[in-house]
Amino acid sequence: MKITVEQLEGSQLKPLYQDDSQLGFGRIFTDRMFSMRFVNNAWNEARIEKYRSFTLDPSSCVFHYSQEIFEGLKAYAAPDGRILLFRPDQNARRMNRSAERLVMPTIPEEDIIQAIEELVLAEKRWLPKQPGTSIYIRPTMIATEAFLGVHPSAEYIFYVILSPVGAYYKGGFKPISLYVEDTYVRANVGGVGDIKTGGNYAASLMAGYRAQQKGFSQVLWLDGRERKYIEEVGAMNMFFVYGKKLVTPKLTGSILPGITRASVLELARYLGLETEERIISIDDVIDGISSGEVTEAFGSGTAAVISPVGSLYYKEKDFVINHNEVGSVTQTLYDKLVNIQYGREEDPFGWVR
Ligand code: PMP
Repeated sequence: MKITVEQLEGSQLKPLYQDDSQLGFGRIFTDRMFSMRFVNNAWNEARIEKYRSFTLDPSSCVFHYSQEIFEGLKAYAAPDGRILLFRPDQNARRMNRSAERLVMPTIPEEDIIQAIEELVLAEKRWLPKQPGTSIYIRPTMIATEAFLGVHPSAEYIFYVILSPVGAYYKGGFKPISLYVEDTYVRANVGGVGDIKTGGNYAASLMAGYRAQQKGFSQVLWLDGRERKYIEEVGAMNMFFVYGKKLVTPKLTGSILPGITRASVLELARYLGLETEERIISIDDVIDGISSGEVTEAFGSGTAAVISPVGSLYYKEKDFVINHNEVGSVTQTLYDKLVNIQYGREEDPFGWVR
């Protein structure tokens, strides 16, 4: 793919953030973005150009029927000066799966990766260096045809924006508290819970907001039919540790197949742990916590990598896991994964690029 690159200099550049250690999440964007347009059945006008607003017709499909998909991954500064991406091929593949599900055009995987790589390289002055910091990469596709009919749009924009982000665990690697949500649901089998589309996140806001108002960090989602089986945690996949065995909900169709989830499973097996993907009922987990069989629990996702879980609140009772402390399996998986992502440790899987 031929990408036209706009050069910017001097006063066209944004002032860089002052201090890596003060960076938050997702409010600062770099000087340039990647974009291309889908018109007349083909992707055209691939370019890296000044970060700017789009002008869209108010009737554009995306505003009315949410024909929109996105991805999330990060670029990391390695100690030897390399810039590393973690499994971008997996994000490209998932983006195309999302596109297919919403009848949007796919993009050759290598073009998605090229767009990301060229943009990150062009914007490398924005890459923070402090431990835990990174550039968050947000590939997005929106339906731009101006037409109010409920149908697949004939026109799209695919774009990639970059946001330098701070360390997720500024206050230390601490367990979070979960509210087991048995009223609202995130997704149903047969729906779109297994792809990354904005509507899933809009649908999750109410439960997340209420849980936070009650003082919990995140929602633990149950299945849409019976509210009996564990699905995900906030915008992460969920894991339970039973001694030396790692258990995570099986991908039944309403769960997002997380790239961190897949990596945790592979890494765990590499480290000699047993892994199991199965249907997990909330009642079993509560029993396991009470009996001490469930020794640790954590969420997995690009933003936090691994987020230790210290307690579940279910049916007006609090169930504390591992004395609300970070367990050794959680800590080991976190350390290993982060070391691979930052190029501090050899990558036996060929994940970093
Ligand atoms: N579930 C949901 C709903 C998510 O939004 C994410 C974040 N992409 C995840 C799980 C974790 O996926 P990944 O490990 O690919 O970031």
